[in-house]
Amino acid sequence: MRIRKIRLAGVLVALSVVLLAAGAYSVSNGTLPFKLYSEVAAGTGMVERVAYPCGVFETIYMGPVPSELEGLDLQTIGERYRAEEGWAVSYDVASGLVLTRNSDELCPKHAAYRHLGIHDGLVAVFEGPLGHNEKVLWIEQIRVKNLGHAYLQRLEQAMEFESQSAEIQAELRTELEFPNEDALHAALENLDELKE
Ligand SMILES: [Zn+2]
Repeated sequence: MRIRKIRLAGVLVALSVVLLAAGAYSVSNGTLPFKLYSEVAAGTGMVERVAYPCGVFETIYMGPVPSELEGLDLQTIGERYRAEEGWAVSYDVASGLVLTRNSDELCPKHAAYRHLGIHDGLVAVFEGPLGHNEKVLWIEQIRVKNLGHAYLQRLEQAMEFESQSAEIQAELRTELEFPNEDALHAALENLDELKE
């Protein structure tokens, strides 16, 4: 009887040591749930966000992990949110499961930006800040050859924004870049007399 008690005590001590070691290991790694249990447990937090080219993150969802992801491990989740489709799957103690979709599009703030440039020899309004010439929003019936030389040069520099010096870029931002369409319209009024 006494021997049994001693054995039981020994087993309990050994078990405690294993649990303590596992706890210390996972805490030192800062990733408690995923070192001990590789699956996303119910009640784990989740953040879904979009990463924009300018470095801004937009949070789409923040809350408990949805039931369809409960019990899955990171690798399985990574097969649903595939890197080839722009997704990055990670886990951190503060946020829980983090699903990040990398977007090629402009963030909401920068999508509201407008800048002036040249399209087919005419003054054109482009979506986004300078350096983004992908989307012409509309064309003004103003031939750039009718503009003064200085202004024409500015528009040409704007179309090659990335290759300008920091000083020129700052000047172009002041003259040809607008945080929204209202600011743009005020600038366009100055060009009205050149319209055909
Ligand atoms: Zn942005």
